[in-house]
Amino acid sequence: MVSSYTTTCIHKERLCSNAWEFKLKLEDGKSLDFTSGQFVIFDVPSVDAPEDLQPRAYSIASSPSEKNELTFLITYKEGGRASRWVDEMLKVGDSITMKGPFGAFTLKEDDDKDYVFIGTGSGVVPFRSMILDLLEKGDTRKIDLFFGVRNEERVFWKEEFEDLALKHSNLNFHLCLSQSSADWNGLHGRVNKVVPEIITDFSNTSLYVCGNPEMVKDLKNLLLHQLELDPQNLHSEGYV
Ligand SMILES: Cc1cc2nc3c(=O)[nH]c(=O)nc-3n(C[C@H](O)[C@H](O)[C@H](O)COP(=O)(O)OP(=O)(O)OC[C@H]3O[C@@H](n4cnc5c(N)ncnc54)[C@H](O)[C@@H]3O)c2cc1C
Repeated sequence: MVSSYTTTCIHKERLCSNAWEFKLKLEDGKSLDFTSGQFVIFDVPSVDAPEDLQPRAYSIASSPSEKNELTFLITYKEGGRASRWVDEMLKVGDSITMKGPFGAFTLKEDDDKDYVFIGTGSGVVPFRSMILDLLEKGDTRKIDLFFGVRNEERVFWKEEFEDLALKHSNLNFHLCLSQSSADWNGLHGRVNKVVPEIITDFSNTSLYVCGNPEMVKDLKNLLLHQLELDPQNLHSEGYV
């Protein structure tokens, strides 16, 4: 059920050049029941006129098992309302109103297919929640996470995903940089180039894509029309 919650910011940290992580705590005794992949809506103030509020959607990055404290991540869009709010205004102790949970970009757990998750920038957020959820539940299906960002300066959660992959042999983490420096010795290129180099057979995969709508559209075209993925096995969310 969708409800409104009063929360307090208990943590805010800049993780890289353009991403902030923040944690919100619900009032004592309150909890948010949600499914991994869902999002909430915040009333976001304008930095220049704080009484002027507008809604913005943010996916929940933490596991559904944490019902009283939720983690979020926002990537900075130049001049954007919420981007400026988090960068310039939000501080630990602030009260934030939130509505939720919303969304149907959730795992279809009723089949036994392998999971392929593809997220660019903040599009990786719902996959963090899904992966934590699956691993906590002891799911042993193969999971391949592709995380695409422009360059080294925009990388976040790398150590966390690498640690999870070390502890759980069913999780494979693929960090792809599209405009990396010459020193980078990891995967290079956009996710639509890298994914088909690593996943060559899509017949037993459930594929989830999240990120900016342009990337989602390009990747869907590639997967459905060139790589002949069954449309039933493709799930996507575009961040507008
Ligand atoms: C279901 C869903 C889940 C989402 N989850 C996340 C998430 O987990 N993390 C995340 O980071 N995003 C997420 N988003 C995107 C998020 O909702 C916002 O759209 C995004 O953060 C930009 O919001 P903003 O208020 O900063 O920018 P807006 O104010 O909405 O501006 C949008 C664009 O216009 C430009 N713009 C605005 N004002 C100016 C100006 N004065 N001059 C020039 N340009 C300007 C900005 O550069 C920006 O690119 C999600 C979206 C959806 C739909």
